[in-house]
Amino acid sequence: MSDIPAATPPAFTAQDYAARMSRAARDAAGAGLAGLLVTPGPDLVWLTGYRPTAITERLTLLVLTPDSEPHLLVPALERPDAEAAPGAGAVRMTDWRDGQDPYAAAAGLLRPSGRYGVSDSAWALHLLGLLEALPRTAYQALTTALPMLRAVKDEHEVARLAAAGAAADAAYGEILRVRFAGRRETDVAADLARLLREHGHSQVDFTVVGSGPNGANPHHEAGERVIEDGDTVVLDFGGLKDGYGSDTTRTVHVGEPTAEELKVHDIVREAQQAAFEAVRPGVACQDIDRVAREVITDAGYGEHFIHRTGHGIGVTTHEPPYMVEGELQQLVPGMCFSIEPGIYLPGRFGVRIEDIVTCAESAGRRLNNTPHEMAVVA
Ligand code: ZN
Ligand code: ZN
Ligand code: ZN
Repeated sequence: MSDIPAATPPAFTAQDYAARMSRAARDAAGAGLAGLLVTPGPDLVWLTGYRPTAITERLTLLVLTPDSEPHLLVPALERPDAEAAPGAGAVRMTDWRDGQDPYAAAAGLLRPSGRYGVSDSAWALHLLGLLEALPRTAYQALTTALPMLRAVKDEHEVARLAAAGAAADAAYGEILRVRFAGRRETDVAADLARLLREHGHSQVDFTVVGSGPNGANPHHEAGERVIEDGDTVVLDFGGLKDGYGSDTTRTVHVGEPTAEELKVHDIVREAQQAAFEAVRPGVACQDIDRVAREVITDAGYGEHFIHRTGHGIGVTTHEPPYMVEGELQQLVPGMCFSIEPGIYLPGRFGVRIEDIVTCAESAGRRLNNTPHEMAVVA
């Protein structure tokens, strides 16, 4: 078990949620929208702290508009749960009962020909219900309409991301002591999941164990392959701790690596370091990708860096902004994102090194701090 006491971060208050909701409504108006429609999922958690026990066919809808107070429409039988959410004091709540038409109830809160931003995760069932009730309304996915809505974290959010990163780092320190050779990837993946939970994660999102040729697929999860002596193994794992995400990758080696494996690993390390050093306010996201890509391309492996360099992280483990060619969004203090260059050699092995980084006032700060050297495991 963990010997690090899990410090509980200060809870977000109704005022915190009220401030997020009013900024979201302002941003919506700035984007030419009549408002935002938020269904259960990460946006609703971030805006109100409300996470329904189950996400179902019964409509729950937060309506944010610039000219009225936040309004949460909930199924009557779930109202007590909604009222217990930490942001409940900052919303006006109404409910609908089984047998009533929830879309008619929602329609009363909307402009008949308004254009609304809607949660990416809203069910088609609900969106089509709204469209039938108000045929002249129009909708845009929140990631398209307001990609930066949750991208800039306040200091308490950064602290939670740092705590999640430290927990993932502790899990990494312990996985180096387990047996790799002779066990299946899924066995090591189960160890990683257990360690993340022991270090305070409430949710494990992924435990990639890419051994040997499987490491050449950046989205390989873990399979039945038995890890062998001489394998390079990509370990990429993360989830949520106290509502905020972790995501880190280290590439380890079973026994002593070859000169070529070390060389490829060194190139990725150099690329990761260069991209990290490029982080500062005002730099475009695509430039973080370009800096990492240039190192790998100059070393002759450009065609094998087949993945973008990074993604944002917050109440989810993958969200905007993306460190990718074409993303002109500039870094802003408080943004938190991964830097995860890699080299993927088909049929042979892969190497990836990933840290979560936050953009501070004048430079980047890593939220993962385990050594970048290729660790040797047994
Ligand atoms: Zn990916
Ligand atoms: Zn990752
Ligand atoms: Zn990642």
